[in-house]
Amino acid sequence: MKFAIRPNPEAHEGLNGYLMRVAYLGGWRRISDVTKLLQWSGKANFSRVYKDTCNDLLLTAAPALLKDASQLSEALITTCDHPYLYDENRMIQDIRVDYPRVCFHCLAEDKKIDWRWSLLPIFQCQKHGSVLQDSCLECGYQFKWESELLERCPACGSRWEPLATKPQPVTESQKYVWSVFESSKAPSSHVKGWLRDICLSTLIAARPFDSMYQKIGSIPSSVRNISNLVQAAYSQLIDPLYQNQWKERLFEERAVLASYSNEASLYSSKYLAVNSVTEWPLSTALLSPNQVGFNESEVFVKPVRRKLMKVCDLRYQVTNSHVAELLKLHNSDISILVDAGVISPINSKSSTMVQLFDLLAVYKLLESIPLNENLKSIDTINITPKSALLNEYAANFGQLIADVLSGKVDGVFSKAGYLKEISIDRSKLMPWLFSQLKITCENSVSLHTAAAILKCSERCVLQLSKSMEIQLAKWGGPGRERVDGLSLLAHKLPYSA
Ligand SMILES: [Zn+2]
Ligand SMILES: [Zn+2]
Repeated sequence: MKFAIRPNPEAHEGLNGYLMRVAYLGGWRRISDVTKLLQWSGKANFSRVYKDTCNDLLLTAAPALLKDASQLSEALITTCDHPYLYDENRMIQDIRVDYPRVCFHCLAEDKKIDWRWSLLPIFQCQKHGSVLQDSCLECGYQFKWESELLERCPACGSRWEPLATKPQPVTESQKYVWSVFESSKAPSSHVKGWLRDICLSTLIAARPFDSMYQKIGSIPSSVRNISNLVQAAYSQLIDPLYQNQWKERLFEERAVLASYSNEASLYSSKYLAVNSVTEWPLSTALLSPNQVGFNESEVFVKPVRRKLMKVCDLRYQVTNSHVAELLKLHNSDISILVDAGVISPINSKSSTMVQLFDLLAVYKLLESIPLNENLKSIDTINITPKSALLNEYAANFGQLIADVLSGKVDGVFSKAGYLKEISIDRSKLMPWLFSQLKITCENSVSLHTAAAILKCSERCVLQLSKSMEIQLAKWGGPGRERVDGLSLLAHKLPYSA
């Protein structure tokens, strides 16, 4: 078959935009009507096609359009082959949005869709500066890939000319992102970092009061008003006014944490500062903070976390390392506290990597730890995670916390809600340290640990083994030597008595 009207691809038209125009000119409603007529057997989400699928479809379409398939491919392949479309290290890995986003001015003038309008970081038309829309401003209809869209709203029939939003100056950050997608230059690490930042910021803008952010494949197709969300993301990165308002709102929304720590209240804003790779230029934002707003959407949260909503509010779900950071402990301390039953993960996963905790519950537990002001003997030592004595006896601070809490060791926490410092009588501490050392020395010990225990260098440990004062463990070759635990203990004991 041959189509009666056979348009050429226009500059910057993508595969779905072109097929939509073919459908429009031929009087068909959807892209799938065209592919059915072509008897194309493939299946595709036309917003996010792979290069092979695109070429396969164009090979089928070319004869009906009286075109050369390779020329069609050359004109349209950018949509699925641009180097910045996908990055597995980005918080939003694919920046293509599923549904059409359009400039009403352009549609009124040209009836064609620029493929770059579908890219998440772009929210303004390059020519008119108007904000790209994914829903009808008149009736709220959410756009799909329907050919009528090129002319008017498929739901209420409003034509685009009178609806066209006010042209605006194009912001600096938008000029930059347009220049990135203007040509397909070799990918630069600066642009990659820049895109990672804007994707991270978008995810945070979608969950402004959350405690953790996890990678997603693409923007969920149920999310609309993307241009607003992305503007919030830019504002988060570049607008001091927005940043201040966000922090104020964070304090309000996470007020329940305020009595524990400001750091915990403001955690979301810190996440952005820590993970952002690019220096962001100051630039004027298009909308005021009030206009972009601070709304949270659950669909940006992974289903495994959403399932835990009944156990714990999404906002306070945190990882092991997050708890460690806020309590100023090491990750391994948290694992020990979990093993000792002091704190429990809300998803009861055995692997530390996937455990989640309820931050509020952790803080409440700290609050419940009694303070004993009475223990102030002359020979009291304050132990913190950095105390040298812990290294010398291969002891773990988390274990000390657990043992103090369970009453195995007679120590006290020096401040309420603060696990980081334990006061303990020297006569009680030393037996506990020895018991920890003995446990470690039941097995072979790494050179590094042995050096810490003997308070000398690793070279000195090897020398001691040559002079037979300690023995090396049977396994481990040159460079990977381990020390026999019992011989180490025997050597250590006379010196530490
Ligand atoms: Zn435009
Ligand atoms: Zn409408």
